[in-house]
Amino acid sequence: MMPSLFVSHGAPTLPLDDCPARAFISGLGKDLPRPKAILAVSAHWDTGTPAVNRVPVNDTIHDFFGFPDALYRLRYPAPGSAELTTRTISALQHAGFSTQGDNDRGLDHGAWVPLLLMYPEHDIPVVQLSIQSRLGPAHHLQLGRAISRLRNDYLILCTGSFTHNLRMLDRSGLNAPEAPWARDFSAWIHAALVEGRTDDLVNYRRLAPFAVQAHPDDDHFMPLFVAVGAGGDGASARRLHSSTTFGTLRMDAYAFS
Ligand code: ZN
Repeated sequence: MMPSLFVSHGAPTLPLDDCPARAFISGLGKDLPRPKAILAVSAHWDTGTPAVNRVPVNDTIHDFFGFPDALYRLRYPAPGSAELTTRTISALQHAGFSTQGDNDRGLDHGAWVPLLLMYPEHDIPVVQLSIQSRLGPAHHLQLGRAISRLRNDYLILCTGSFTHNLRMLDRSGLNAPEAPWARDFSAWIHAALVEGRTDDLVNYRRLAPFAVQAHPDDDHFMPLFVAVGAGGDGASARRLHSSTTFGTLRMDAYAFS
């Protein structure tokens, strides 16, 4: 079985930014067995109930504004997988979720930016599953548990951000020194992950230091809970990467199995 992954996708400029996180994600595909297809869960597709896309070839959605032209020229036309869409919908329904297919949606930048770095040939089929940010951590943990068995055949790649407060970015540069609150929040989350304290994680907004500062809205944190759930009961967490961009945007990545 493959692990489920949580990867911080960072700023949309990640493909252009020479930083440790880009180097890490670029090597990540080589460290994994080649999956039959990939189920991507990104913070940027947020719906009322879980939706799963079903397309022959994924469109590349440039869902960001005011960035360099080079980013808008990037494309990631990975094929879809009707089989993975069907199996995802069936696993979710079996767990009691109401869900539906979406015949139009392509891949947002939370999905295609890491995939472009991991598998630049875009020859592995990709299906995307949406998050429901208003429903919080426990819902996403259950969503992950529902799709855990798919790891027999597929890679589950959840992408968001370990910290995500765009008002607190240090615009002085990619390598600006890290803000202490981002470090303290991340250290607490890391300890809870490796110690398997799932209940504490679900209640992170109440328990973790600087939680509201780290995630004023917690959409970018929800994919982490999907990854934890998809790791299965009693999964252990392994930190694959840790770094910070723009002083407050943590780029941590984890594997769960
Ligand atoms: Zn994002």
